[in-house]
Amino acid sequence: MQVSAMSEQECGELLQRVFIGRLGCSLDNQPYVVPVGFAYEPGYVYVFSTLGKKIEWMRENPKVCLQADEIGTSSNWVSVIVTGTYLELREPQYTIERQHARKLLAKHNNWWINAVTERREETNDIAIKGLFFRIDIETISGLRATG
Ligand SMILES: Cc1cc2nc3c(=O)[nH]c(=O)nc-3n(C[C@H](O)[C@H](O)[C@H](O)COP(=O)(O)OP(=O)(O)OC[C@H]3O[C@@H](n4cnc5c(N)ncnc54)[C@H](O)[C@@H]3O)c2cc1C
Repeated sequence: MQVSAMSEQECGELLQRVFIGRLGCSLDNQPYVVPVGFAYEPGYVYVFSTLGKKIEWMRENPKVCLQADEIGTSSNWVSVIVTGTYLELREPQYTIERQHARKLLAKHNNWWINAVTERREETNDIAIKGLFFRIDIETISGLRATG
């Protein structure tokens, strides 16, 4: 098996192909990782989320990362990691950016369903409010393994 570095363009292509990634954040030296759906464009990652621990933590410490991959077999895979800064797209300051995020996420079927359904398991409040956030990408790296 060979493992080689991917170019930035190849990393971007993977991030455009896949929808599920693992978001990493941390607070007080404690890491926290959750799966999320995301949309990518050069420089940015967009996520739709409900309010909870990850949002509370990222508000406190906006330094975050996101990992995504395509795993064929144990010797054929690609994996990309971005690091960056959390930015909550609040109304009314970021109305245009929210609309843009929604448009990009909507390229994926049922882009909102995991966030909202997970929350409905825990609450009777049917009117669960979602929020959009963006990761302003600072670094991007990728590895490709070929058997
Ligand atoms: C394939 C997939 C896609 C998803 N897409 C999205 C998305 O786009 N947006 C979104 O907001 N959420 C998404 N979720 C749900 C997400 O992973 C979190 O469960 C959810 O967002 C709640 O996170 P929180 O930090 O607000 O949790 P809280 O409810 O505040 O967390 C409380 C505690 O619950 C536990 N917990 C929370 N989530 C998980 C989990 N996933 N696995 C195990 N334990 C957990 C942790 O111990 C945590 O400390 C997705 C989940 C899956 C599996």
